[in-house]
Amino acid sequence: MLIDSHVNLHAPQFDADRQEVIDRARAAGIALMVNISDRLSTFPANRAIAEAPDIWCTVGVHPHEAKDVPDLSPRTLLDLADDPKVVGLGETGLDFHYDLSPRDIQAKVFAAHIAAAQESGLPLVVHTREADGLMTQMLEEAHARAPFRMLLHCYTSGPELARRAAALGAWFSVSGIATFKAAEEVRAVIRDMPADRIIVET
Ligand SMILES: [Zn+2]
Repeated sequence: MLIDSHVNLHAPQFDADRQEVIDRARAAGIALMVNISDRLSTFPANRAIAEAPDIWCTVGVHPHEAKDVPDLSPRTLLDLADDPKVVGLGETGLDFHYDLSPRDIQAKVFAAHIAAAQESGLPLVVHTREADGLMTQMLEEAHARAPFRMLLHCYTSGPELARRAAALGAWFSVSGIATFKAAEEVRAVIRDMPADRIIVET
């Protein structure tokens, strides 16, 4: 069975032909899809798409959008996640490549998601880019306080973060980037990941 663990069907790019896109995915054999939240303001649209029996969703704020909700509380996430169609929190994390939100705000909003994951038991969908040091520190410190589940999605960060997150039980998704000719470094990191905890992301 094929599950697409990371779709963004509420994105405006799909306004013209959203249903056709979903139907094509089904025709291609995708049995389940997880529509990933990127901001709270679009969560209702995301959740509405997850009315379909084969579509599920997450709730969370992408690090790019963290600046919109600097005071996000775990409670807000937990209330929205108290819904049978919500199967995860995020995507959330740290992106110090684009820096579209101030780094301290990204970290604060990420910490709120971690706390919600610890309390609810829902897995975190983690986005991390050029933030290996702080990401490792936040995951390890929080995990030592209370365990939580996580998927590091579209992983292109370094081997040290991969190793240490794997030690915390993390899952990883790897994308088509791994097939690029110049991406030998990415492939080397993937070779060291726990083979039974890798997901392919398109
Ligand atoms: Zn991402």
